[in-house]
Amino acid sequence: MRAQPTASHYINGAYEDSTGGAELVSIYPATGETIAKLTAATDTTIEAAMAAAEAGQKVWAATPAAERGRVLRKAADLLRNKNRELSVLETLDTGKPLQETLVADAASGADCLEYFGNLAGTLTGEHIDLGGSFAFTKREPLGVCVGIGAWNYPIQIACWKAAPALACGNAMVFKPSEVTPLSALKLAEALTEAGLPAGVFNVVQGFGDTGARLISHPKAAKVSLTGSVPTGSRVASLAGEHLKKVTLELGGKSPLIVFEDADIENAVSAAINANFYSSGQICSNGTRVFVHKKIKDAFLKRLKERTANAVLGDPLDEAVNIGPLVSRPQLDKVLSYMELGQQEGATLVCGGGMASVDSLPDGTFVQPTVFADVRDDMRIAREEIFGPVMCVLDFDDEDDVLARANGTDFGLAAGVFTKDIQRAHRVIDRLEAGTCWINTYNLTPIEMPFGGYKKSGIGRENGHAAIEHYSQLKSVYVEMGGVEAAF
Ligand code: NDP
Repeated sequence: MRAQPTASHYINGAYEDSTGGAELVSIYPATGETIAKLTAATDTTIEAAMAAAEAGQKVWAATPAAERGRVLRKAADLLRNKNRELSVLETLDTGKPLQETLVADAASGADCLEYFGNLAGTLTGEHIDLGGSFAFTKREPLGVCVGIGAWNYPIQIACWKAAPALACGNAMVFKPSEVTPLSALKLAEALTEAGLPAGVFNVVQGFGDTGARLISHPKAAKVSLTGSVPTGSRVASLAGEHLKKVTLELGGKSPLIVFEDADIENAVSAAINANFYSSGQICSNGTRVFVHKKIKDAFLKRLKERTANAVLGDPLDEAVNIGPLVSRPQLDKVLSYMELGQQEGATLVCGGGMASVDSLPDGTFVQPTVFADVRDDMRIAREEIFGPVMCVLDFDDEDDVLARANGTDFGLAAGVFTKDIQRAHRVIDRLEAGTCWINTYNLTPIEMPFGGYKKSGIGRENGHAAIEHYSQLKSVYVEMGGVEAAF
């Protein structure tokens, strides 16, 4: 098996296996080939990981913040040095084209480690003058944090959680998605090589129940999940029951609004990026593309022409820009929505079904698909598909399109294309979404907080905002005079 790791888990600074856990298989979606077999964590594995994290966290929290920052920045360099190797691994595990993983996965994980490494030494409290006496605040770590990842950006998600957690002096036990278990282990290796004390970052493999056992573990102070809304709801309930702090990065059905004065080529580029990058398996995708009636025909014409240029094929070939979907269940789900769109009466502009790649007959490939004349009440316009399926909806009035764009329980992201600067800001102000773009889409630099309104999440990742979710303030009152008492 071409991507078999040394062992399934990474605990206390070393690889470790568990005996008796369920088998967990990683498949290369382009061929259906098994690339690694791992074992899910048993109770003993979970106890070992949580105990290692508890002990490691004490050492780490006592390490000067500037030194913590140096370790994170060194790990960033190590990921960058190994970028190609890590990108190939991510492509094998997820099926995403190497053309993408070379720039968007370990590379963005490295940016995140570097950013929070730089912030580590700057995390200070405040002095509060009380007229003689005073108070001050200290920013302290939470303790052991649990990270649970989705399968679409495995190493990036692991870094987005680990980097701010570690910068603040916490330890982390991370559970990757069962579908993509491999690259988080490589992050653990890099952190150890960079000088992270044993036990500060641990990886345990498993299914949903493993995640649940980690959250309810008495040593866990916090959970950060990236996943679907139903899983987010279960995780929030469990965290609430045990009063654990919680951050949720969940799904979306985000609007991209293209006004009649927009630059059509740029708007088409954004719609392509917002729907077909990573074969559409991105939470913040702008899957409801509202296009002003005046430019609908021109927009659809260019969209169709340019979508015909997509190169489907072996994701390890750097010329390929559309790879397979991550798994057979995901393939079945996406195909069912392609079928549903046609039954619901949307106009199929292009795509609409499976795609065949001659050299890869067992690959989970689908055609990039565009539906036009989509109505708000259609299920393809209301439910997260998580595949390359774009819904184009018409509009001709700003108030109306805003009401329709906001007419969803999701609120992860939104975009607007217009050359009118006042309209751009007016529209953004009224969009109910946590991450918004003007005249572009889906750019998520580490410096910019990322997260959702409404059912798309709780809390923020990235930027200074993430620090709030991995630290707690201690307020200290300092009496400079005597102490009065009633008796
Ligand atoms: P899931 O919600 O199915 O799973 C997410 C993670 O949670 C997995 O590791 C899963 O384990 C674990 N899990 C499942 N059930 C439980 C439970 N009861 N308690 C604790 N952990 C549990 O999501 P997918 O992996 O299918 O990822 C796709 C979803 O993630 C989409 O909805 C997408 O929008 C969202 N997402 C959100 C992002 C954001 O930042 N907002 C970014 C990327 C994706 P296992 O895999 O073993 O089932």
